[in-house]
Amino acid sequence: MAKKKNPSDAYCEWCGRPADPSQYRFLVPSSDQQSCICTDCIETLSGYIREELPEKQRQDDKREFIASMKDNVPTPHQIKEHLDQYVIGQDDAKKYLSVAVYNHYKRLMQPRLKDDDVDIEKSNIIIVGPTGTGKTLLAKTIARQLNVPFTIVDATVLTQAGYVGEDIESLLTRLLQAADYDVEKAQRGIVFIDEIDKIARKGDNPSITRDVSGEGVQQGLLKLLEGSIVNVPPQGGRKHPEQKMIPVDTKDILFICGGAFEGIESKIAQRMNSHVVGYATDSTRERPRDKQDYLRYVAPQDLRSYGLIPEIIGRLPILTHLNPLSRDALLRVLTEPKNAITRQYEKLFQMDGVKLTFAPEVLEFVVDKAIEYKLGARGLRSIVEAIMVDAMFDIPSMNVKEFEVTLPYAKEKFEAAHFEAASVGS
Ligand code: ADP
Repeated sequence: MAKKKNPSDAYCEWCGRPADPSQYRFLVPSSDQQSCICTDCIETLSGYIREELPEKQRQDDKREFIASMKDNVPTPHQIKEHLDQYVIGQDDAKKYLSVAVYNHYKRLMQPRLKDDDVDIEKSNIIIVGPTGTGKTLLAKTIARQLNVPFTIVDATVLTQAGYVGEDIESLLTRLLQAADYDVEKAQRGIVFIDEIDKIARKGDNPSITRDVSGEGVQQGLLKLLEGSIVNVPPQGGRKHPEQKMIPVDTKDILFICGGAFEGIESKIAQRMNSHVVGYATDSTRERPRDKQDYLRYVAPQDLRSYGLIPEIIGRLPILTHLNPLSRDALLRVLTEPKNAITRQYEKLFQMDGVKLTFAPEVLEFVVDKAIEYKLGARGLRSIVEAIMVDAMFDIPSMNVKEFEVTLPYAKEKFEAAHFEAASVGS
């Protein structure tokens, strides 16, 4: 490289031009003062870096993710075993979810070869089941086991663009937050959309009272489920023109939708009963015994009669259901899961050095009350809380080492808590 003794002879090593202050072109010397580069060339180079580097980083990120996951992807059996520790029953849904999540990982890890035309498509899931039977619990439990970002969002807060409420894109804000704003990570995440039934089209569905007909929201949601690049407001809420948007590709995001679809049993029954005519073999087919039994025969066309648009149903190819929890299942919910309600209270007391026990009749009493007040599993905790609040208030100031909750004690405290009044609106 020629040594520039006289600065007036200096020129840019890249483009060969000298400095020209009238054109705002200046020369920047190298650290050894042996050569120069002009500001125009620096600008061109930084543009190149801005374009090329993110792509390289993306590829490195993906490579790193695949390497870290290679031996760590849990098998469907392992995913279900994990779910079994926290969620009682619901075997069908657990199996579907385990397979879907496992395949989600495989999709993320598939090498994109140019001549490979088998592209594994993602399989978004929809879970139909009465409220309080474990939809959110299943989703949350899966999230804990996975190392992809996960978020739960409520479809009822969403409205069609231009209406009061949140724009559809804000669903992804929560995912971005869960991924610490790492877009690459968020693009591999899982979103659980709760209460999807509340955006069913009005008309067909008598239970919908809110406006913004749902159909507009469904159309908006479709864009996300299909896989497209969506501009996401980083702080959520509504879009402001001055807010800088973050583009997020939803192609690899797994969506799990859940909804109670209250009254869908009658649509299922209608369909099944109308099909029975004319088929001799149908007389031998197993028929549901009561209304709730119909849920396990739920099919895509029932979601359509309920008011979901066909395009949305097409984008949620895995349909599964949750069963209502029987009395026996509610009893198990109280004691069996790893973080069962009774275990949580035992732990709280243990921290004060007190051994807490519940008499078996107390558990039966709690379940009976949950059934009586039609609260299901959701009510178990508040019933136990009503029974336990006095003990939790007094025991830390008393010198006791053991405390047994007996049936008379539970009954007395429950009645004193005026639970009926307290439970209204819960
Ligand atoms: P939803 O189906 O309405 O989403 P959730 O999953 O939120 O219901 O359940 C509410 C609460 O009831 C949970 O936090 C959990 O304590 C309990 N619960 C519901 N179903 C089950 C279940 N199958 N196994 C264990 N606990 C359950």
